Amino acid sequence: MKRFDVAVIGGGPGGYVAAIQAAQNKRSVVLIEAGQLGGTCLNRGCIPTKTLVASTDQLRNIQRASAFGIKVKEVSFDYAAMHGHMDDVVSGVRSGLEGLIAANKITVLRGHGKFVSPTEIKVIGEDNEVVFAKNTIIATGSEPRNIPAFPFDHKSILSSTSILEKENLPKKLIVIGGGVVGCEFASIYSQLGVEVEILEALPHIIAPEGEDLSEALKAAFTKQGITVSTNMMVEGVDQLSKGGLRVRLGKGEHRDTDWVLVAVGRQLNTDKIGLDKVGINVDSNGAIPVNSTMATTVPNIYAIGDVTAKCMLAHVASHQGLVAAMNATGRHAEMHYDAIPSVVFTHPELASVGRTLKQAKEDGFDAIIGKFPFQVLGKSQATLETEGFAQIVLDQQTGQLLGAQVCGHEAATLIAEMTLAIHNELTLGCLTETVHAHPTISEAWLEAAMLAQGNPIHLPPKRSKSRVKELAPC
Ligand code: NAD
Repeated sequence: MKRFDVAVIGGGPGGYVAAIQAAQNKRSVVLIEAGQLGGTCLNRGCIPTKTLVASTDQLRNIQRASAFGIKVKEVSFDYAAMHGHMDDVVSGVRSGLEGLIAANKITVLRGHGKFVSPTEIKVIGEDNEVVFAKNTIIATGSEPRNIPAFPFDHKSILSSTSILEKENLPKKLIVIGGGVVGCEFASIYSQLGVEVEILEALPHIIAPEGEDLSEALKAAFTKQGITVSTNMMVEGVDQLSKGGLRVRLGKGEHRDTDWVLVAVGRQLNTDKIGLDKVGINVDSNGAIPVNSTMATTVPNIYAIGDVTAKCMLAHVASHQGLVAAMNATGRHAEMHYDAIPSVVFTHPELASVGRTLKQAKEDGFDAIIGKFPFQVLGKSQATLETEGFAQIVLDQQTGQLLGAQVCGHEAATLIAEMTLAIHNELTLGCLTETVHAHPTISEAWLEAAMLAQGNPIHLPPKRSKSRVKELAPC
């Protein structure tokens, strides 16, 4: 039996980062992966969808070229070619990752890993063997949730995985679920000329992002021609004899469509990995309980990423992977969740970190908001990206920055500054004392801070000054 200091089950953004960190801490590492290295994010999630977003961004820019004084004769696109580009990007990133794994001298075993005891894992698949590991990090991720009332057929009732395998486009797409997955695909497909409707059971799309971002996205989507129907619980989907699908809603209502994308969350891959053989009990959602060091209730077994259901984002899984690998190799690290950036790659882009105003008030803070519209910025006007805003949430008593939300061009990049500020518990004063380059969209943070103090430079002064002015040194 081969022996390793650390075994990692699952090679997604959590597992492969953990494996590299453990190997760099000079331990022998085996990485067990049933599919392709990179997991959901690289192969059927973040990277392919962001490649499609890059294609639709290019298309939009070319379509509006005349506004910049550029003449373009005829604009068209070939979805199969966009799809080919997406596949090329994914395989390029994957081969880079395979090189990194090899350079770190990590043993890769291809197959499903299943515990037979707390220190032994059976690999079943292309490779078939039992390995011994002093420490194991579980990083088996999740799959799109299949609903019995409208199960995937992967032909026209699609998951986020099978829709990416399609090389053609429908005339009409109904998206069930207005979460991040649903909104990102709605945005991509609408920009490719597909008629799109989102059916969301809750009163708001992307509800966890808070009302301000949700309302901003709904307004932008509606302007772009995407129908956003909230408070709409889908009861079932039927195949029509004339072709196409009928989506059944309550009270006899229905919608006919060519394809349905079911995007109602993900189920955790914790049921087939032999947790009963090691004594780990999952919670009612199938999640593995962990502490801040990512340790499970069983000594020397850690869990990271979606299986912990802490925050189902690739970058959280990667960070949890670093923490677990440090602890599994005799060092100490802990995971903190106060400043986790979240990005929705729609058009317009959304990003947030920390608390919304509502959450800050619920948590007992004397919270206020400073909200600055992009329209005022010279850089936004020069690039014709005037839609959106940046806003900060802060505590009036101490001036501490509690949260930030941004909607619009480059939101994903802009949120990094606020993530650093909130993680380090910085105050409004730190933000106003920091020189921001001009002309950039990041000036919106400085302006939002000055607005919160009641003395904005590029907007009329506020009548009622906030109390935060004198109280917020850095
Ligand atoms: P989600 O849980 O975020 O959203 C699912 C939505 O479906 C919810 O709003 C829910 O109310 C709705 N819903 C459930 N049943 C319904 C029904 N019968 N009819 C109508 N609506 C219904 O799940 P998701 O969007 O599938 O995303 C899965 C995970 O992947 C999330 O944790 C998400 O954060 C993550 N993800 C993140 C990114 C990113 O960070 N950019 C991108 C993709 C996925």
